[in-house]
Amino acid sequence: MQRDILFLESVCTHNIWGGSRLREEFGYPVEGNDLGECWGISAHPNGECVVAGGEFAGMHLSEVWSRHPELFGKLDYDRFPLLIKIIDARDNLSIQVHPDDAYAMEHENGSFGKTECWYVLDCPEDASIIIGHNAGTKEELADMIANGKWNDFIRELPVKKGDFMQIDPGTVHAIKGGLLILETQQNSDITYRVYDYDRLSGGKPRELHIEKSIDVITVPAKSAEDSIKSVTDLPKNELCKLYDCDYYKVFKLNLEGEVCFEQKYPFLNMSVIEGSGSINGVTVKKGDHFILPYGYGEVQAEGIMELMASTV
Ligand code: ZN
Repeated sequence: MQRDILFLESVCTHNIWGGSRLREEFGYPVEGNDLGECWGISAHPNGECVVAGGEFAGMHLSEVWSRHPELFGKLDYDRFPLLIKIIDARDNLSIQVHPDDAYAMEHENGSFGKTECWYVLDCPEDASIIIGHNAGTKEELADMIANGKWNDFIRELPVKKGDFMQIDPGTVHAIKGGLLILETQQNSDITYRVYDYDRLSGGKPRELHIEKSIDVITVPAKSAEDSIKSVTDLPKNELCKLYDCDYYKVFKLNLEGEVCFEQKYPFLNMSVIEGSGSINGVTVKKGDHFILPYGYGEVQAEGIMELMASTV
């Protein structure tokens, strides 16, 4: 008998830079016009998903992970390794950087570092994103940050719908207002804020992490050309791999009709980002997030829809 698909109830967060698209376009039933993030596939204590139906209905993903390792290929991780978010930035996010595993282990009580990647779901015509910086040496970096030379320091690049970006630890980055993004990341919440546009939150500036940022920022940054790639030209009805690193594999499926493929991974996260259809006869639509468990076997997908998928 085929295992059940693990459908998840996502968790939305309120953020000073958030908007209303997560409710209006994705249908998440959450009030407020400050919805910044939908944690669609998450076993992180800061926003945990609950299984929506079937045998494990009502259980947290972390509980399914620890009590039923067979559903995830009995992986050698102490927690569910990935976190999938949709981010709606009405306003600019702070400029930040993440540590790698070694730095986080030493300075953040044994936490994981954070590697993440972005797929641009939507953005305005002349949108841009902050990725990388212009300092040539650590000394220059420290000077630019300490003396607030933000215009010199920050590297802003044009970005389009359908672009993909890998954000390795040590990469200065920020989502700018107007962007709607799907983020695939390590299951970690360690962020060092470098600059917050001198904004106030609750009457006070949010905390910055200058020392740690200077410690972990990679100098020089990866080239602009290597930082963003367009993935709008993918073949239809095929699970296409967009990226593969030590922490995840990310795929996109553009479906127009049907496709049949084998779920051959320890688990496969899937998020419907456009349209609707079905997976082995079960109806799915934009905004749905689910996991195809280990040993699921043959996946028969039908419809007109776009999905992002990931595994380790
Ligand atoms: Zn980040």
